[in-house]
Amino acid sequence: MATPKNIVVVGAGIIGTTTAFYLSRHPSVTSSSSPPSITIIEASQRGAAQGASGKAGGLVAKWAYPKELTDVSFKQHVALSAEFDGSQRWGWRWVDVGEWEGRGREASGKRVRDGLPADLSWVSDELTEVYTPLAQAGDTAQVHPRLFTQSMLDLALENGVRFVQGRVTTLESNTGHVSGVRYVAIEGGEEVHLPADRVVLAAGAWSSTLLPSLPVSGTRAHSVVIRAPLAPPAEAVSPYVLFTSIELPKVDGGRPRTVSPEIYPRPDATIYVCGPGDTRAPLPLTVDDVAVDAAACEEIWDWVAETGVIEEWALGDIETRQACYLPTVDIKGGPIIGAVPNISGLVAATGHTCWGICNAPGTAKAVSELVLEGSIKCADLSRLDAARFI
Ligand SMILES: Cc1cc2nc3c(=O)[nH]c(=O)nc-3n(C[C@H](O)[C@H](O)[C@H](O)COP(=O)(O)OP(=O)(O)OC[C@H]3O[C@@H](n4cnc5c(N)ncnc54)[C@H](O)[C@@H]3O)c2cc1C
Repeated sequence: MATPKNIVVVGAGIIGTTTAFYLSRHPSVTSSSSPPSITIIEASQRGAAQGASGKAGGLVAKWAYPKELTDVSFKQHVALSAEFDGSQRWGWRWVDVGEWEGRGREASGKRVRDGLPADLSWVSDELTEVYTPLAQAGDTAQVHPRLFTQSMLDLALENGVRFVQGRVTTLESNTGHVSGVRYVAIEGGEEVHLPADRVVLAAGAWSSTLLPSLPVSGTRAHSVVIRAPLAPPAEAVSPYVLFTSIELPKVDGGRPRTVSPEIYPRPDATIYVCGPGDTRAPLPLTVDDVAVDAAACEEIWDWVAETGVIEEWALGDIETRQACYLPTVDIKGGPIIGAVPNISGLVAATGHTCWGICNAPGTAKAVSELVLEGSIKCADLSRLDAARFI
């Protein structure tokens, strides 16, 4: 296949921005006297990281999946953080992670505190039933996903990548080869044709709106960001990510209900908490149109705060109420990474489900190799090949 001249990446979530960055620093680009142009296009008026990539928890784990992709990704995360001071720039830090089971304050019954680490002081000791560590020290870290995504874009721009704000409406091809994209510009609203000989489709839950044969869809999920009242929080709210199982107090003699919010304290003095997915609102036209159900956010607050699960001293006000669409793969497996059959030059990098933050650097490395060297070298990702899904 000929050397690419114009590469377009569709979508400035974590997959698109990290891919643009890895493309821009690939040796075949940095050493070339006539490097390809690299353009990333994003549909949001507000810029990068407005979808799941800005509203995720941010766990980066050696034990994530699929293993072949995570093995590459985890090492790349560690290396990126060391190279670009990730702890300052995108809140990189090592965390402990555990499963926490307990009850809301008004539930009756004897509490059995079992295994709660001494420094996990921000969760109620009294309401804990079981704490089970999920990983060994050094196997799990976190990033602030919005800051990581924005940093990848900033680094890509420093390397000469062009950022365009527009909603891609069509992936264009000519005699079986991708020839460009058509997009509606955010400013002015005109329709523009952008020629390309390689296109990377990284539009998250929206990917199948551009390529309907992709079995990718979206599930909405709400989350809240709570500002902890204490500073410095790094000492006060210790770095434990908790997957919880909370038995709520019975309401009006009804049946007990168990909920499972995930809790992520962050080094920026906030605590991020996300709730379950819902199918009440179909995927809107763009990320800017995602509807936030205020009641769903209040419910998340009730589960962790009103119940007394998070200690009162660690809780401030809700700073952000938000929702996003998790990109899911409708058939078993995923994410989907590889050349799209019958349209040469078109590469899919999508369907990352609940591990897209963790698996972005491995995806980006693999896609940069595929686009610039003709095949993926860093791992055997044949299980994720687009041809298996389309
Ligand atoms: C509540 C929650 C918690 C999570 N926690 C974690 C976690 O702790 N660790 C982890 O590894 N993963 C986590 N994830 C998963 C992770 O967020 C996703 O897998 C990841 O963000 C997907 O990234 P993406 O770039 O593919 O998609 P997105 O972030 O959705 O980005 C896609 C981008 O494409 C743009 N776009 C779409 N259509 C077009 C178009 N036509 N033209 C131009 N641009 C377009 C969108 O506007 C968007 O900016 C979580 C997800 C959720 C929902």
